[in-house]
Amino acid sequence: HTKHMGRNGYHFFQPSMNTLAQTQLQLLNDLWLALERQEFRLVYQPKFKAPSGPVIGFEALLRWHHPFQGVLSPDVFLPLAEKTGLIVPLGNWVVDEACRQLSEWRKQGHLEWSIAVNLSTMQFEQNGLVQTILDALKKHDVPPEKLILEVTETTAMSNPDESVRVLTALTDAGVQASIDDFGTGYSSLLYLKRLPACELKIDRAFVRELCKEGEDATIVSAIIALAKTLNLKVVAEGVETEEQQAFLTELGCNTLQGYLLGKPVSAESITAYGNKLSPTDTLS
Ligand code: C2E
Ligand code: MG
Ligand code: MG
Ligand code: MG
Repeated sequence: HTKHMGRNGYHFFQPSMNTLAQTQLQLLNDLWLALERQEFRLVYQPKFKAPSGPVIGFEALLRWHHPFQGVLSPDVFLPLAEKTGLIVPLGNWVVDEACRQLSEWRKQGHLEWSIAVNLSTMQFEQNGLVQTILDALKKHDVPPEKLILEVTETTAMSNPDESVRVLTALTDAGVQASIDDFGTGYSSLLYLKRLPACELKIDRAFVRELCKEGEDATIVSAIIALAKTLNLKVVAEGVETEEQQAFLTELGCNTLQGYLLGKPVSAESITAYGNKLSPTDTLS
């Protein structure tokens, strides 16, 4: 009996732990085949010019349509993809697919829309990221200015010199860079100034608490002031209420994104919605 007890009297092999480890292992196995089996999809979340339109573009967000477990969100499988290196081919697929989709919308007349793609830490350490991105743009005939690369503050900071080098090469080619989840990392102002980004996205955590008591309104005002000083546009993510929308607009946010204005949806829904727009329409 005691053989199965840990040093502190805990069981080492609790059935629940075993199941969790097994699930992870199974996912890991499935992950390698998923790309080949075309189980990944992109959904697209609109970005709106503040306060309520028009739509200026979309952020591509990855989903895994697992054969048994249904639709899995990136929080579940991206850490595994990072750990195993699958993120490199997967990330390349995301870039290619997002460019392909934008080019389709462009053919339907939506020449003003941009597409944002998230890049993870390991993609930055990959040789050839710059070329892969430039190739995808060329292949799908998408102007570089219409592609926005979202890099979290934490990713940018994990290898600062490399991030500056890669992003500089890409922005020199005309691509735009955006600092995602801003406020959750620890970037120095000096470093921020060196990053060739044109936009800063305020993390959802600050937006969530915005209209409640506390310090987040002060923090958000400070972030916006900082962004303006550095000549960056400000995007707020996770806008869920009209109060937040009004407040962020008043504070000078340029772009809003969140469930209030639009959830991530399939490319088909956006195509259907886009077809109802005349080129001069502004939405509200
Ligand atoms: P992110 O880039 O900060 O994306 C925003 C996340 O917040 C998305 O979650 C989005 O669905 C969600 N969101 C948007 N508006 C709201 C809102 O109003 N309320 C709430 N509660 N949530 C909202 P998602 O799609 O699960 O993605 C999570 C993270 O996974 C992303 O955070 C991004 O860091 C990463 N990710 C997603 N797709 C990719 C990808 O293709 N490549 C890489 N490397 N990372 C990705
Ligand atoms: Mg993002
Ligand atoms: Mg974010
Ligand atoms: Mg995030």
